[in-house]
Amino acid sequence: MTTPRTVLVTGGNRGIGYAIAQEFVAQGHRVAVTARSGEGPEGSLTVRADVTDAASVDAAFTEVEEKLGPVEVVVANAGITRDTLLMRMSDDDFDAVVDTNLGGSFRVIKRASKGMLKARFGRIVLISSVVGLYGSAGQVNYAASKAGLVGMARSITRELGGRGITANVVAPGFIETDMTAELPEAQQAEYKRNIPAGRFASPTEVARVVTWIAGDDAAYISGAVIPVDGGLGMGH
Ligand code: NDP
Repeated sequence: MTTPRTVLVTGGNRGIGYAIAQEFVAQGHRVAVTARSGEGPEGSLTVRADVTDAASVDAAFTEVEEKLGPVEVVVANAGITRDTLLMRMSDDDFDAVVDTNLGGSFRVIKRASKGMLKARFGRIVLISSVVGLYGSAGQVNYAASKAGLVGMARSITRELGGRGITANVVAPGFIETDMTAELPEAQQAEYKRNIPAGRFASPTEVARVVTWIAGDDAAYISGAVIPVDGGLGMGH
């Protein structure tokens, strides 16, 4: 049993974020999720936030702090894709993805670090992707945003590692969510052929790694990139 913490998961109304929040609730933590629409899992507090807007992120943290106490664990999970080949990718496609996935994580962890510094304790988990380091045709914007999270976690580790704060990256491969359901079936079959495990994963398989890296047993792990990808990204 790990120490009960106050946890905030961004984008916790569906997909991987929902499963992460569910797992933290099941393990007895005080859990809040941010959502633009919908609700987090039973037993969690839902607050509204758009991660592209610093004022909205700030208001969400303030509400969580008032209702559940200072945020000790933050999971920057909210993310989007706008896939297309480089030659067809508009500036807006690039900017929107980087602003949400990389900029959004920055706004969230910057706000979280205030309370963590005061408490001299914090667990920061950034949800990246296997494609951040592996690369992916049609995902120049997305892969760049996800690779950026690695530099972010490692820089935070160097800045705040001495204050009881860890920052790690979890890099999922293909997970069964709305994001992958959008892929054409032929493409899904092709991906499965390339994954040593031969299958996609459930969101819970990612969630259990996130709760572990945020827990007491992982206190000496920081700046790590932890793959949950069935072996797809090996060596990257
Ligand atoms: P979904 O598309 O199912 O959910 C995305 C979540 O992000 C939703 O809760 C969504 O909120 C939220 N979100 C998007 N934009 C914003 C924003 N501007 N402000 C606040 N919230 C926002 O995605 P997944 O669950 O599949 O993915 C979760 C994370 O995992 C993402 O970072 C993704 O890149 C990453 N990932 C996913 C993989 C997969 O195979 N599915 C593989 C590797 C990484 P709303 O419902 O309001 O739109």
